[in-house]
Amino acid sequence: MQIFKVGGAVRDRLLGKPVTDIDWVVVGATTEEMLAQGYRPVGADFPVFLHPKSGAEYALARTERKSGRGYGGFTFHASPEVTLEEDLIRRDLTINAMAEDDQQNLTDPYHGQRDLEARVLRHVSPAFAEDPLRVLRVARFAARYADLGFTVAPETLDLMRQLSESGELEALTAERSWKEISRALMEDQPQVFIQVLRDCGALKVLMPEVDALFGVPQPEIHHPEIDSGIHTLSVLEQSARHKQPLTVRWACLLHDLGKGLTPEEEWPRHIAHEHKGLKLIKVVNERFKAPKDCQELALLVGQYHTHGHRALELKASTLLELLQSFDVYRRPQRFEEFIAACEMDARGRKGLEDRSYPQADYLRGAASVARGVAVQPLLEKGFKGPELGEALKRERLKALKAYKENA
Ligand code: ATP
Ligand code: MG
Repeated sequence: MQIFKVGGAVRDRLLGKPVTDIDWVVVGATTEEMLAQGYRPVGADFPVFLHPKSGAEYALARTERKSGRGYGGFTFHASPEVTLEEDLIRRDLTINAMAEDDQQNLTDPYHGQRDLEARVLRHVSPAFAEDPLRVLRVARFAARYADLGFTVAPETLDLMRQLSESGELEALTAERSWKEISRALMEDQPQVFIQVLRDCGALKVLMPEVDALFGVPQPEIHHPEIDSGIHTLSVLEQSARHKQPLTVRWACLLHDLGKGLTPEEEWPRHIAHEHKGLKLIKVVNERFKAPKDCQELALLVGQYHTHGHRALELKASTLLELLQSFDVYRRPQRFEEFIAACEMDARGRKGLEDRSYPQADYLRGAASVARGVAVQPLLEKGFKGPELGEALKRERLKALKAYKENA
């Protein structure tokens, strides 16, 4: 049997990027031989094994054929006769379809190295169209390598467009889609992911609520970029520039969905878009089964981001309601993430990327004042149950009024 490094490890070494996980392909072996050497099978009927010591993934060379809709509709064929070239042709991009042996001899039948040098993301063969997930993968790689100048080959974008129009994207499971989306959002240029999905018509299918923001104007005085979709991309870009966690990035992407619902005659104003957007945020959250913390933050940011911007003008009672809604007493981290998302929203505007955001410290200060109200004296006064809650609120309100006056 022969063993080769494949996929990302080869690509990233040639790009001079750090290699984290290595995928291996084994040519000329049977399942029995792998087991005899101590490899552990990952699934009952999938030809992938874990190395007895390192735990790295070793896959038997295989061919794949589509046999129905969705990912379940794949049949594969692994046998000692399957060649390295046959295994590589089933892969998504030419830059992901190179292999190398332990002497670093490159096998590159589909010219991945040429495309690496030309900075092109190009599909390997027409079989690309057999797995719609590849549309998201290409958009994710475009986001990851945007800084290096990579773009999607026109013919690959055409295929992605055909896949988007064919209805195949709808067959993707929430789990597979979310995995790609969440990884793409964590790249350095996540806005490129959304842009590429939009360019090939996939955004309209996957997240029509986000797609609807493009072409919707906002008041120029607050939004020099005018377009709501462009604004959303910029907010996402800022969230990556400021190394925000996934929760914040997800909330940034969805914060303005309500603007897509504004009747044209009300443009460029978007009255109550915060509230109107909530049902859309919920739908997108559920479509991808986003993790609970992402879902929760997206809804809170959707509802309250303009409160964040107007923090210094809010009445003490409104400020208190905001703090209560976030349960800042038990969930301090979540409130920090809300503040971060508001700040990204303020900066994701043309020419305002480096503006200061005094609201952030003001909100932090308010939270700490409210948290600083002690319960003990109220207990000593004999307050109990709901009355204790009310008394605590009154004390917090008093403290916030004082905070506001001294700010
Ligand atoms: P990363 O650095 O994100 O891990 P990677 O290229 O190693 O990038 P993996 O998801 O680990 O990506 O997959 C390893 C290899 O398997 C890819 O390089 C590609 O050749 C192939 N591959 C993975 N998923 C698909 C897919 N859906 N369709 C075609 N080929 C795929
Ligand atoms: Mg990998």
